[in-house]
Amino acid sequence: MSKKILVTGGAGFLGSHLCEYLLNQGNEVVCLDNYFTGQKRNIVHLLNNPFFEVIRHDVTMPFFIEVDEIYNLACPASPIHYQYNAIKTVKTSVMGAINMLGLAKRIKAKILQASTSEVYGDPQIHPQTEDYWGHVNPIGIRACYDEGKRCAETLFVNYHDQNDVRTKIVRIFNTYGPRMHPNDGRVVSNFIMQALQNQPITVYGNGEQSRSFCYVDDLIRGLVSMMNTDDSITGPINIGSPNEFTILELAEKVIHYTGSSSKIIFKEIPMDDPLQRQPDITLAKKVLNWEPKIVLDEGLLKTIEFFKQNYTS
Ligand code: NAD
Ligand code: UDP
Repeated sequence: MSKKILVTGGAGFLGSHLCEYLLNQGNEVVCLDNYFTGQKRNIVHLLNNPFFEVIRHDVTMPFFIEVDEIYNLACPASPIHYQYNAIKTVKTSVMGAINMLGLAKRIKAKILQASTSEVYGDPQIHPQTEDYWGHVNPIGIRACYDEGKRCAETLFVNYHDQNDVRTKIVRIFNTYGPRMHPNDGRVVSNFIMQALQNQPITVYGNGEQSRSFCYVDDLIRGLVSMMNTDDSITGPINIGSPNEFTILELAEKVIHYTGSSSKIIFKEIPMDDPLQRQPDITLAKKVLNWEPKIVLDEGLLKTIEFFKQNYTS
């Protein structure tokens, strides 16, 4: 049955793919965004669809609408962008969660929070399971994002327990794909842009730190599966790829697949940069029957093609 769905942060990287997926499934979609890191070009192809609506709004301000479901994705996700105005990042996560949870309570909508592997900080257990409480520096440069997202999770649990709001929390691990912002500083987009321009590939630290990269299409399937679970499933649940790579391995793959003449250079590693990150997705497999299908090599090729078409002349 067709539903009316609100996607906050809908003009961003993940949000635009989610809007598109939900529209393709026959739903009515309202995209809310303040365009801080989102771009109109991400959703321009959806604007002719009569079941798609875009509203410029900031989630730190209250918002009223009648919908069946809310996906709360509004928040800058790349370190450069979330550190640009740290106070605003905390406000977006915390006040945004309060405003969207208040809305969900009032209209009795189901609501899903796009949380993050960053709630585990620089993890001391590996791979990370949902029952791990994390290792986060509350006063470090990543804290505005990490602690904001942790507080948002707390609010989701509190609104569920105290006000019977139908909540879902998904902890998203590093996701990449077409429509990543070319200048947002995240590793996949940085390396691809650098490689396509034959510029040096900037590896921070010695490149031995690891991440597990999930292709966007797999991630979106995971989010929607979680939303479609019955009300007893609230999460948090990890969604991401369990295939871990070092940043140096990623750099080598990008050079290989772009056929670039770029050389790798090493730069200082940012403060509190997590050393290792890999989700344990046992719970997602069991509860959602979900696991990623697209391997890094395949996803990188698709992403490189997107960047070639959109950002090279
Ligand atoms: P993104 O920066 O491309 O998208 C975020 C969107 O939110 C943008 O369109 C931005 O303009 C909008 N936004 C930011 N502040 C807002 C505000 N105050 N009011 C309204 N809109 C606002 O990032 P993304 O990668 O698409 O991430 C989407 C969500 O998923 C974020 O909440 C992020 O924390 C989470 N997440 C993403 C990843 C990832 O690897 N991509 C990993 C973990 C969690
Ligand atoms: N990174 C890098 N070079 C870059 C951008 C990032 O070596 O040009 C590293 C970064 O230090 C981190 C990893 O890649 O160890 C992933 O960084 P990203 O910002 O994509 O995500 P996050 O650190 O939030 O997982």
